[in-house]
Amino acid sequence: LADRLQSTISKIRGKGKVNEQDVKEMMREVRLALLEADVNFKVVKDFVKRVSERAVGQEVMQSLTPGQQVIKVVKEELTALMGGEQSKIAVAKKPPTVIMMVGLQGAGKTTTTGKLANLLRKKHNRKPMLVAADIYRPAAIKQLETLGKQLDMPVFSLGDQVSPVEIAKKAIEKAKEEHHDYVLIDTAGRLHIDETLMGELQQVKDISQPDEIFLVVDAMTGQDAVNVAQSFNEQLGLTGVVLTKLDGDTRGGAALSIRSVTETPIKFVGLGEKLDALEAFHPERMASRILGMGDVLSLIEKAQSNVDADKAKELEQKMRTASFTFDDFLEQLGQVRNMGPLDELLNMLPGANKMKGLKNVQVDEKQISHVEAIIQSMNKEEKEHPEVINASRRKRIARGSGTSVQEVNRLLKQFEDMKKMMKQMTNMSKGKKKGGMKF
Ligand code: GDP
Ligand code: MG
Repeated sequence: LADRLQSTISKIRGKGKVNEQDVKEMMREVRLALLEADVNFKVVKDFVKRVSERAVGQEVMQSLTPGQQVIKVVKEELTALMGGEQSKIAVAKKPPTVIMMVGLQGAGKTTTTGKLANLLRKKHNRKPMLVAADIYRPAAIKQLETLGKQLDMPVFSLGDQVSPVEIAKKAIEKAKEEHHDYVLIDTAGRLHIDETLMGELQQVKDISQPDEIFLVVDAMTGQDAVNVAQSFNEQLGLTGVVLTKLDGDTRGGAALSIRSVTETPIKFVGLGEKLDALEAFHPERMASRILGMGDVLSLIEKAQSNVDADKAKELEQKMRTASFTFDDFLEQLGQVRNMGPLDELLNMLPGANKMKGLKNVQVDEKQISHVEAIIQSMNKEEKEHPEVINASRRKRIARGSGTSVQEVNRLLKQFEDMKKMMKQMTNMSKGKKKGGMKF
């Protein structure tokens, strides 16, 4: 999914103008990509229709950067497709609230049970009890007990000779006695979905009347995850999905498919093996991820295709010798515009957000044309030696460009910051291999 979208996006991203044909082409790719990922046909159709309508509408066509705008629309609609933010957990009218964790073997059920208990206590001040109801996987009980110890939380277990149904029943009784407000039942998984597994889970469900049934799925399993989610949902009726192992390099296309196929909200994502590596699911972040933003590789690709190599070298030289002028800046602006918003580009650079002064160099796209006007109102001397721009010159420039003195001031400040930061970036990329990001 990601690859296809990615290539389409990089095609359209740099476009200064987008016509209906471009949008159509892009939508065809998006459609194919989603269908290939087995997203429900109707969902895809609706999605493409919504995006197309918006993409050929005024908000896009009349903007400065239509290519960017199309991507923005795709991203917004993807976000909507994955549902709002829904990390809420049910609270039973009569405690304890019972949460049943289901999923295939190795998906991360046991780990997530521990993480969730941790979250419930830390964030919501709850008093959870863990239940070891996986009597099949060797050492599964021990694994949960170890987690319980780490968390200093009680783990209910009756060994592996008692049926999971019985365990669930006794566990809930015990939780009531000891006033635990949450009961988290860690169940067994199989390598594949089978009837025995489902039958047993059904029984556990019947006896424990869970308030939530969370399916734990490994995000790395991609397409399979969708089928898994569908079966579990049909047989048990899921209330939420936890997508684990998103700390890996998967793009998380599974999130999109799972959500659209099961119509079950993805509630949490697992981002590591540690007990605090569980976060609320953010559809918007996931959409970015699926679209591949925040991706250094694609940034480099973009930089390479958009910035003329010779020019980049020349600019780098200028930066080093501090002879970077407003004319260069103007030229840069054109290239930046072709690549996308500057702040977005900077965010892709590892460590870039730690650079000081970053806030001041974010260029609001809407104001790019103002910036251009301001620079064009400067004379040669001012462009080359901005330090000569005193108060009266600022006034003149503002008047000439139809902007305000404040805007001129801000630009001068940004320019200075940008110069500083470029120097830092040049230094940063010096140690790295050639072809890296250079302005
Ligand atoms: P279960 O069989 O479904 O109970 O799965 P486990 O909880 O035993 O997890 C299987 C493996 O996946 C273990 O090695 C976990 O440490 C690992 N794991 C679980 N969740 C995550 C996650 O979010 N990120 C990473 N990197 N590993 C995870
Ligand atoms: Mg387990």
